[in-house]
Amino acid sequence: MEYQAKQLFAKHDVPVTVGTVVTSPADAAAAAEEQGGRVVVKAQVQAGGRGKAGGVKLAETPQDAVARAGDILGMEIKGLTVHRVLVAPAADIKDEYYFSFLVDRANRGYLCIASVEGGVEIEVVAHDKPEALAKVPVDPQAGVDDAKAAEIVAATGFPAEVADEAREVIKRLWDVFIKEDATLVEVNPLALLGDGHLEALDGKMTLDANAGFRHPDHAEFEDKAAADPLEAKAKAKGLNYVKLDGDVGIIGNGAGLVMSTLDVVAYAGERHGGVKPANFLDIGGGASAQVMADGLDVILNDTQVKSVFVNVFGGITACDAVANGIVNALEILGDEANKPLVVRLDGNNVEEGRRILDEANHPLVTLADTMDGAADRAAELASR
Ligand code: GDP
Ligand code: MN
Repeated sequence: MEYQAKQLFAKHDVPVTVGTVVTSPADAAAAAEEQGGRVVVKAQVQAGGRGKAGGVKLAETPQDAVARAGDILGMEIKGLTVHRVLVAPAADIKDEYYFSFLVDRANRGYLCIASVEGGVEIEVVAHDKPEALAKVPVDPQAGVDDAKAAEIVAATGFPAEVADEAREVIKRLWDVFIKEDATLVEVNPLALLGDGHLEALDGKMTLDANAGFRHPDHAEFEDKAAADPLEAKAKAKGLNYVKLDGDVGIIGNGAGLVMSTLDVVAYAGERHGGVKPANFLDIGGGASAQVMADGLDVILNDTQVKSVFVNVFGGITACDAVANGIVNALEILGDEANKPLVVRLDGNNVEEGRRILDEANHPLVTLADTMDGAADRAAELASR
Protein backbone atom coordinates (compact mmCIF):
# COMPACT_ATOMS: atom_id res chain seq x y z
CA MET A 1 0.00 0.00 0.00
CA GLU A 2 1.03 3.59 -0.62
CA TYR A 3 1.73 4.45 3.02
CA GLN A 4 3.90 1.36 3.40
CA ALA A 5 5.84 2.10 0.23
CA LYS A 6 6.34 5.66 1.50
CA GLN A 7 7.76 4.32 4.76
CA LEU A 8 10.34 2.38 2.76
CA PHE A 9 11.01 5.41 0.55
CA ALA A 10 11.67 7.51 3.66
CA LYS A 11 14.04 4.86 5.01
CA HIS A 12 16.22 5.34 1.91
CA ASP A 13 15.94 9.14 1.82
CA VAL A 14 13.61 9.43 -1.15
CA PRO A 15 11.86 12.79 -0.74
CA VAL A 16 8.42 11.91 0.59
CA THR A 17 5.89 13.01 3.20
CA VAL A 18 4.66 9.88 4.93
CA GLY A 19 1.56 11.44 6.54
CA THR A 20 -0.74 9.68 9.00
CA VAL A 21 -2.85 6.57 8.49
CA VAL A 22 -6.26 6.66 10.18
CA THR A 23 -9.20 4.28 10.31
CA SER A 24 -11.94 6.68 11.39
CA PRO A 25 -13.16 10.11 10.22
CA ALA A 26 -12.64 11.55 13.72
CA ASP A 27 -8.95 10.62 13.64
CA ALA A 28 -8.66 12.29 10.24
CA ALA A 29 -9.49 15.64 11.89
CA ALA A 30 -6.66 15.35 14.38
CA ALA A 31 -4.23 14.30 11.64
CA ALA A 32 -5.32 17.20 9.42
CA GLU A 33 -4.97 19.64 12.33
CA GLU A 34 -1.42 18.44 12.90
CA GLN A 35 -0.57 18.87 9.23
CA GLY A 36 -1.76 22.44 9.01
CA GLY A 37 -5.36 21.96 7.84
CA ARG A 38 -5.10 21.62 4.06
CA VAL A 39 -4.64 17.93 3.36
CA VAL A 40 -5.23 15.17 0.87
CA VAL A 41 -7.20 12.11 2.06
CA LYS A 42 -6.23 8.94 0.22
CA ALA A 43 -7.73 5.43 0.27
CA GLN A 44 -5.17 2.78 1.24
CA VAL A 45 -5.84 -0.38 -0.77
CA GLN A 46 -3.57 -2.61 -2.80
CA ALA A 47 -4.76 -1.23 -6.12
CA GLY A 48 -3.99 1.65 -8.44
CA GLY A 49 -6.47 4.05 -9.99
CA ARG A 50 -7.71 5.22 -6.63
CA GLY A 51 -7.88 8.83 -7.81
CA LYS A 52 -10.16 7.96 -10.71
CA ALA A 53 -12.36 5.84 -8.41
CA GLY A 54 -12.90 8.78 -6.04
CA GLY A 55 -10.50 7.48 -3.41
CA VAL A 56 -8.22 10.56 -3.38
CA LYS A 57 -9.77 13.83 -2.19
CA LEU A 58 -8.46 17.24 -1.17
CA ALA A 59 -9.71 18.73 2.09
CA GLU A 60 -9.41 22.44 2.85
CA THR A 61 -10.02 22.18 6.60
CA PRO A 62 -9.92 19.50 9.33
CA GLN A 63 -13.76 19.40 9.28
CA ASP A 64 -13.60 18.86 5.54
CA ALA A 65 -11.06 16.04 6.12
CA VAL A 66 -13.58 14.32 8.40
CA ALA A 67 -16.21 14.44 5.66
CA ARG A 68 -13.79 13.22 2.95
CA ALA A 69 -12.52 10.38 5.18
CA GLY A 70 -16.17 9.46 5.80
CA ASP A 71 -16.77 9.33 2.03
CA ILE A 72 -13.71 7.17 1.37
CA LEU A 73 -13.70 4.76 4.34
CA GLY A 74 -15.87 1.76 3.48
CA MET A 75 -15.72 2.49 -0.24
CA GLU A 76 -14.91 -0.36 -2.62
CA ILE A 77 -12.08 0.10 -5.10
CA LYS A 78 -11.48 -2.74 -7.56
CA GLY A 79 -13.23 -5.15 -5.18
CA LEU A 80 -11.21 -4.04 -2.15
CA THR A 81 -12.90 -2.39 0.82
CA VAL A 82 -11.15 0.70 2.14
CA HIS A 83 -10.35 0.26 5.84
CA ARG A 84 -7.67 2.96 6.12
CA VAL A 85 -7.01 6.38 4.69
CA LEU A 86 -3.78 8.29 4.53
CA VAL A 87 -3.95 11.92 5.55
CA ALA A 88 -1.03 13.90 4.10
CA PRO A 89 -0.33 17.60 3.59
CA ALA A 90 -1.81 18.76 0.28
CA ALA A 91 1.02 19.31 -2.14
CA ASP A 92 1.28 22.19 -4.59
CA ILE A 93 1.85 20.27 -7.82
CA LYS A 94 3.46 21.89 -10.87
CA ASP A 95 4.05 18.74 -12.88
CA GLU A 96 3.64 14.98 -12.54
CA TYR A 97 6.12 12.34 -13.76
CA TYR A 98 6.03 8.56 -13.83
CA PHE A 99 8.92 6.46 -12.57
CA SER A 100 9.48 2.74 -11.97
CA PHE A 101 12.06 0.02 -11.56
CA LEU A 102 11.00 -3.55 -12.19
CA VAL A 103 12.25 -7.03 -12.94
CA ASP A 104 12.43 -7.65 -16.68
CA ARG A 105 12.25 -11.43 -16.83
CA ALA A 106 12.34 -11.68 -20.61
CA ASN A 107 15.67 -9.89 -20.69
CA ARG A 108 16.99 -11.36 -17.44
CA GLY A 109 17.66 -7.98 -16.00
CA TYR A 110 16.04 -4.93 -14.53
CA LEU A 111 14.20 -2.23 -16.36
CA CYS A 112 13.49 1.41 -15.63
CA ILE A 113 10.31 2.77 -17.16
CA ALA A 114 9.84 6.51 -16.83
CA SER A 115 7.86 9.30 -18.43
CA VAL A 116 7.31 13.00 -18.05
CA GLU A 117 3.66 12.21 -18.84
CA GLY A 118 2.91 11.07 -15.31
CA GLY A 119 -0.10 11.25 -13.01
CA VAL A 120 -2.36 9.48 -15.46
CA GLU A 121 -2.56 5.72 -15.89
CA ILE A 122 0.71 4.63 -17.41
CA GLU A 123 -1.02 1.89 -19.42
CA VAL A 124 -2.92 4.65 -21.24
CA VAL A 125 0.32 6.50 -22.04
CA ALA A 126 1.90 3.23 -23.23
CA HIS A 127 -1.05 2.67 -25.55
CA ASP A 128 -1.72 6.16 -26.89
CA LYS A 129 1.75 7.67 -26.81
CA PRO A 130 4.36 4.93 -26.57
CA GLU A 131 7.12 7.35 -27.60
CA ALA A 132 6.56 9.24 -24.32
CA LEU A 133 7.79 6.22 -22.32
CA ALA A 134 11.51 5.81 -21.71
CA LYS A 135 12.61 2.23 -21.17
CA VAL A 136 16.15 1.90 -19.90
CA PRO A 137 17.56 -1.55 -19.14
CA VAL A 138 19.64 -1.83 -15.98
CA ASP A 139 22.37 -4.45 -15.76
CA PRO A 140 21.88 -6.29 -12.43
CA GLN A 141 25.65 -6.48 -11.89
CA ALA A 142 26.31 -2.80 -12.60
CA GLY A 143 23.18 -1.31 -10.99
CA VAL A 144 22.37 2.40 -11.14
CA ASP A 145 25.42 4.64 -10.77
CA ASP A 146 25.74 8.33 -11.68
CA ALA A 147 26.14 7.56 -15.37
CA LYS A 148 23.09 5.27 -15.48
CA ALA A 149 21.01 7.81 -13.54
CA ALA A 150 22.05 10.49 -16.04
CA GLU A 151 21.13 8.18 -18.92
CA ILE A 152 17.67 7.64 -17.41
CA VAL A 153 17.17 11.38 -16.87
CA ALA A 154 18.13 12.12 -20.47
CA ALA A 155 16.03 9.31 -21.94
CA THR A 156 12.98 10.40 -19.94
CA GLY A 157 13.41 14.05 -20.83
CA PHE A 158 13.24 15.50 -17.32
CA PRO A 159 13.36 19.31 -17.62
CA ALA A 160 16.85 20.77 -17.16
CA GLU A 161 15.94 22.55 -13.92
CA VAL A 162 15.13 19.26 -12.16
CA ALA A 163 17.77 17.06 -13.85
CA ASP A 164 20.26 17.16 -10.96
CA GLU A 165 17.66 16.37 -8.35
CA ALA A 166 16.07 13.70 -10.55
CA ARG A 167 19.42 11.87 -10.77
CA GLU A 168 19.69 11.88 -7.00
CA VAL A 169 16.11 10.68 -6.47
CA ILE A 170 16.60 7.92 -9.06
CA LYS A 171 19.68 6.62 -7.23
CA ARG A 172 17.74 6.56 -3.96
CA LEU A 173 14.81 4.75 -5.56
CA TRP A 174 17.34 2.23 -6.85
CA ASP A 175 18.50 1.78 -3.24
CA VAL A 176 14.90 1.12 -2.24
CA PHE A 177 14.52 -1.40 -5.05
CA ILE A 178 17.73 -3.34 -4.33
CA LYS A 179 18.10 -3.02 -0.57
CA GLU A 180 14.47 -3.94 0.11
CA ASP A 181 14.55 -6.85 -2.39
CA ALA A 182 11.63 -5.47 -4.38
CA THR A 183 10.43 -6.70 -7.74
CA LEU A 184 8.64 -3.41 -8.40
CA VAL A 185 9.04 0.15 -7.23
CA GLU A 186 6.63 2.55 -8.87
CA VAL A 187 6.13 6.25 -8.26
CA ASN A 188 3.20 7.94 -9.97
CA PRO A 189 3.26 10.78 -9.61
CA LEU A 190 6.81 11.73 -8.90
CA ALA A 191 5.77 15.36 -8.60
CA LEU A 192 7.51 18.63 -9.27
CA LEU A 193 6.28 20.90 -6.49
CA GLY A 194 5.78 24.65 -6.43
CA ASP A 195 9.07 25.07 -4.55
CA GLY A 196 10.95 23.48 -7.46
CA HIS A 197 11.70 20.19 -5.66
CA LEU A 198 10.71 16.64 -6.49
CA GLU A 199 8.60 14.51 -4.17
CA ALA A 200 7.12 11.01 -4.40
CA LEU A 201 3.39 11.68 -3.91
CA ASP A 202 2.39 8.06 -4.47
CA GLY A 203 4.23 4.78 -4.15
CA LYS A 204 3.64 1.18 -5.02
CA MET A 205 5.99 -1.69 -4.29
CA THR A 206 6.04 -5.43 -4.72
CA LEU A 207 8.41 -7.17 -2.33
CA ASP A 208 10.04 -10.48 -3.18
CA ALA A 209 8.63 -12.92 -0.60
CA ASN A 210 11.55 -15.26 -1.29
CA ALA A 211 13.81 -12.67 0.30
CA GLY A 212 11.48 -12.22 3.27
CA PHE A 213 13.96 -13.91 5.62
CA ARG A 214 16.31 -10.98 5.09
CA HIS A 215 13.62 -8.46 6.02
CA PRO A 216 11.82 -9.24 9.29
CA ASP A 217 10.32 -5.73 9.09
CA HIS A 218 8.44 -6.64 5.89
CA ALA A 219 6.14 -9.08 7.72
CA GLU A 220 4.06 -6.21 9.06
CA PHE A 221 3.21 -5.05 5.52
CA GLU A 222 1.11 -8.11 4.82
CA ASP A 223 -2.60 -7.34 4.77
CA LYS A 224 -3.88 -10.33 6.71
CA ALA A 225 -7.47 -9.05 6.66
CA ALA A 226 -7.49 -8.98 2.86
CA ALA A 227 -6.03 -12.48 2.51
CA ASP A 228 -8.34 -15.33 1.62
CA PRO A 229 -9.08 -17.33 4.83
CA LEU A 230 -8.21 -20.63 3.13
CA GLU A 231 -4.94 -19.17 1.86
CA ALA A 232 -4.18 -17.92 5.36
CA LYS A 233 -4.86 -21.39 6.79
CA ALA A 234 -2.68 -23.05 4.15
CA LYS A 235 0.10 -20.57 4.82
CA ALA A 236 -0.05 -21.27 8.55
CA LYS A 237 0.47 -24.96 7.72
CA GLY A 238 3.35 -24.17 5.38
CA LEU A 239 1.46 -25.21 2.24
CA ASN A 240 1.98 -23.67 -1.16
CA TYR A 241 -1.70 -22.92 -1.95
CA VAL A 242 -3.51 -20.44 -4.18
CA LYS A 243 -7.31 -20.31 -4.24
CA LEU A 244 -8.89 -20.17 -7.67
CA ASP A 245 -12.46 -19.87 -8.86
CA GLY A 246 -13.49 -23.47 -9.68
CA ASP A 247 -14.92 -26.80 -8.56
CA VAL A 248 -12.14 -29.39 -8.83
CA GLY A 249 -9.71 -29.34 -5.90
CA ILE A 250 -6.13 -30.11 -6.94
CA ILE A 251 -3.28 -31.64 -4.96
CA GLY A 252 0.00 -32.49 -6.61
CA ASN A 253 3.70 -32.64 -5.94
CA GLY A 254 5.95 -30.20 -7.72
CA ALA A 255 4.89 -26.81 -9.07
CA GLY A 256 5.30 -27.90 -12.71
CA LEU A 257 3.10 -30.97 -12.30
CA VAL A 258 0.46 -28.95 -10.47
CA MET A 259 0.46 -26.26 -13.16
CA SER A 260 -0.05 -28.87 -15.90
CA THR A 261 -2.73 -30.54 -13.76
CA LEU A 262 -4.62 -27.23 -13.72
CA ASP A 263 -4.41 -27.21 -17.52
CA VAL A 264 -5.68 -30.76 -18.06
CA VAL A 265 -8.51 -30.21 -15.60
CA ALA A 266 -9.49 -26.98 -17.34
CA TYR A 267 -9.50 -28.79 -20.72
CA ALA A 268 -11.43 -31.78 -19.33
CA GLY A 269 -13.83 -29.36 -17.64
CA GLU A 270 -14.86 -27.96 -21.02
CA ARG A 271 -16.42 -31.35 -21.77
CA HIS A 272 -18.34 -31.31 -18.48
CA GLY A 273 -20.23 -28.04 -18.48
CA GLY A 274 -17.23 -25.76 -17.92
CA VAL A 275 -15.98 -26.93 -14.52
CA LYS A 276 -12.61 -25.47 -13.54
CA PRO A 277 -9.75 -26.18 -11.13
CA ALA A 278 -10.46 -24.79 -7.65
CA ASN A 279 -6.90 -24.18 -6.51
CA PHE A 280 -3.19 -24.64 -6.89
CA LEU A 281 -1.68 -26.80 -4.15
CA ASP A 282 1.85 -28.15 -4.32
CA ILE A 283 2.61 -30.47 -1.41
CA GLY A 284 6.23 -30.68 -2.49
CA GLY A 285 8.56 -33.61 -2.10
CA GLY A 286 7.58 -35.09 1.24
CA ALA A 287 3.99 -36.25 0.78
CA SER A 288 3.58 -37.49 4.34
CA ALA A 289 0.19 -38.37 5.82
CA GLN A 290 0.19 -35.13 7.80
CA VAL A 291 0.98 -32.96 4.76
CA MET A 292 -1.64 -34.83 2.74
CA ALA A 293 -4.18 -34.40 5.57
CA ASP A 294 -3.36 -30.68 5.87
CA GLY A 295 -3.74 -30.26 2.11
CA LEU A 296 -7.01 -32.17 1.95
CA ASP A 297 -8.27 -30.27 4.97
CA VAL A 298 -7.74 -26.92 3.22
CA ILE A 299 -9.27 -28.10 -0.06
CA LEU A 300 -12.28 -29.85 1.46
CA ASN A 301 -13.10 -26.69 3.39
CA ASP A 302 -13.46 -24.81 0.13
CA THR A 303 -17.25 -24.85 -0.24
CA GLN A 304 -16.92 -24.48 -4.02
CA VAL A 305 -15.02 -27.78 -4.31
CA LYS A 306 -17.09 -30.76 -5.49
CA SER A 307 -14.35 -33.26 -6.28
CA VAL A 308 -10.61 -33.55 -5.66
CA PHE A 309 -7.88 -34.69 -8.01
CA VAL A 310 -4.72 -35.98 -6.29
CA ASN A 311 -1.97 -36.16 -8.90
CA VAL A 312 1.33 -37.44 -7.59
CA PHE A 313 4.46 -38.50 -9.37
CA GLY A 314 6.58 -40.65 -7.09
CA GLY A 315 10.21 -39.62 -7.15
CA ILE A 316 12.23 -39.32 -3.97
CA THR A 317 8.96 -39.90 -2.14
CA ALA A 318 7.80 -43.24 -3.53
CA CYS A 319 4.16 -43.94 -4.45
CA ASP A 320 3.64 -46.39 -1.59
CA ALA A 321 4.50 -43.65 0.92
CA VAL A 322 2.07 -41.31 -0.85
CA ALA A 323 -0.65 -44.00 -0.88
CA ASN A 324 -0.16 -44.56 2.83
CA GLY A 325 -0.28 -40.80 3.25
CA ILE A 326 -3.66 -40.64 1.51
CA VAL A 327 -5.10 -43.56 3.50
CA ASN A 328 -3.90 -42.12 6.80
CA ALA A 329 -5.03 -38.61 5.86
CA LEU A 330 -8.55 -39.90 5.23
CA GLU A 331 -8.44 -41.56 8.65
CA ILE A 332 -7.25 -38.33 10.30
CA LEU A 333 -10.01 -36.35 8.58
CA GLY A 334 -12.78 -38.88 9.29
CA ASP A 335 -16.21 -37.39 8.51
CA GLU A 336 -14.63 -34.18 7.29
CA ALA A 337 -13.58 -36.04 4.16
CA ASN A 338 -16.85 -35.88 2.30
CA LYS A 339 -16.07 -35.31 -1.38
CA PRO A 340 -14.94 -37.81 -4.03
CA LEU A 341 -11.19 -38.13 -4.61
CA VAL A 342 -9.68 -39.20 -7.89
CA VAL A 343 -6.10 -40.38 -7.39
CA ARG A 344 -3.51 -40.82 -10.09
CA LEU A 345 -0.16 -42.19 -9.02
CA ASP A 346 2.83 -42.85 -11.20
CA GLY A 347 6.57 -43.23 -10.88
CA ASN A 348 8.69 -44.83 -8.20
CA ASN A 349 7.02 -47.92 -6.68
CA VAL A 350 3.68 -47.28 -8.36
CA GLU A 351 2.43 -50.90 -8.18
CA GLU A 352 2.76 -50.98 -4.42
CA GLY A 353 1.07 -47.57 -4.15
CA ARG A 354 -1.91 -48.73 -6.17
CA ARG A 355 -2.10 -51.97 -4.20
CA ILE A 356 -2.30 -50.03 -0.93
CA LEU A 357 -5.15 -47.87 -2.23
CA ASP A 358 -6.97 -50.87 -3.72
CA GLU A 359 -6.72 -52.71 -0.46
CA ALA A 360 -7.93 -49.73 1.59
CA ASN A 361 -10.92 -49.60 -0.77
CA HIS A 362 -12.07 -46.23 0.59
CA PRO A 363 -15.57 -45.39 -0.70
CA LEU A 364 -14.55 -41.84 -1.69
CA VAL A 365 -11.41 -42.81 -3.63
CA THR A 366 -11.26 -43.66 -7.32
CA LEU A 367 -7.92 -44.75 -8.79
CA ALA A 368 -7.11 -43.60 -12.32
CA ASP A 369 -4.29 -44.83 -14.57
CA THR A 370 -3.58 -41.70 -16.56
CA MET A 371 -3.49 -37.98 -15.86
CA ASP A 372 -6.00 -37.21 -18.63
CA GLY A 373 -8.30 -40.00 -17.48
CA ALA A 374 -8.14 -38.78 -13.91
CA ALA A 375 -8.81 -35.17 -14.94
CA ASP A 376 -11.83 -36.26 -16.95
CA ARG A 377 -13.20 -38.33 -14.06
CA ALA A 378 -12.66 -35.54 -11.52
CA ALA A 379 -14.32 -32.99 -13.82
CA GLU A 380 -17.26 -35.33 -14.41
CA LEU A 381 -17.73 -35.90 -10.66
CA ALA A 382 -17.63 -32.14 -10.06
CA SER A 383 -20.24 -31.48 -12.76
CA ARG A 384 -22.82 -33.80 -11.22
P1 GDP B 1 -3.77 6.62 -7.67
O1 GDP B 1 -4.89 7.20 -8.46
O2 GDP B 1 -4.19 5.35 -6.96
O3 GDP B 1 -2.53 6.41 -8.47
O4 GDP B 1 -3.41 7.67 -6.49
P2 GDP B 1 -2.39 8.91 -6.45
O5 GDP B 1 -1.75 8.94 -5.14
O6 GDP B 1 -1.45 8.87 -7.61
O7 GDP B 1 -3.33 10.16 -6.58
C1 GDP B 1 -4.01 10.46 -7.78
C2 GDP B 1 -3.81 11.91 -8.15
O8 GDP B 1 -4.24 12.72 -7.10
C3 GDP B 1 -2.37 12.31 -8.41
O9 GDP B 1 -1.94 12.05 -9.71
C4 GDP B 1 -2.40 13.79 -8.13
O10 GDP B 1 -2.83 14.47 -9.29
C5 GDP B 1 -3.49 13.91 -7.08
N1 GDP B 1 -2.86 14.08 -5.76
C6 GDP B 1 -2.33 13.12 -4.96
N2 GDP B 1 -1.80 13.66 -3.86
C7 GDP B 1 -1.98 15.02 -3.96
C8 GDP B 1 -1.65 16.15 -3.17
O11 GDP B 1 -1.05 16.05 -2.11
N3 GDP B 1 -2.00 17.37 -3.62
C9 GDP B 1 -2.66 17.53 -4.81
N4 GDP B 1 -2.98 18.75 -5.20
N5 GDP B 1 -2.99 16.50 -5.57
C10 GDP B 1 -2.67 15.26 -5.19
MN1 MN C 1 -0.68 7.10 -8.56
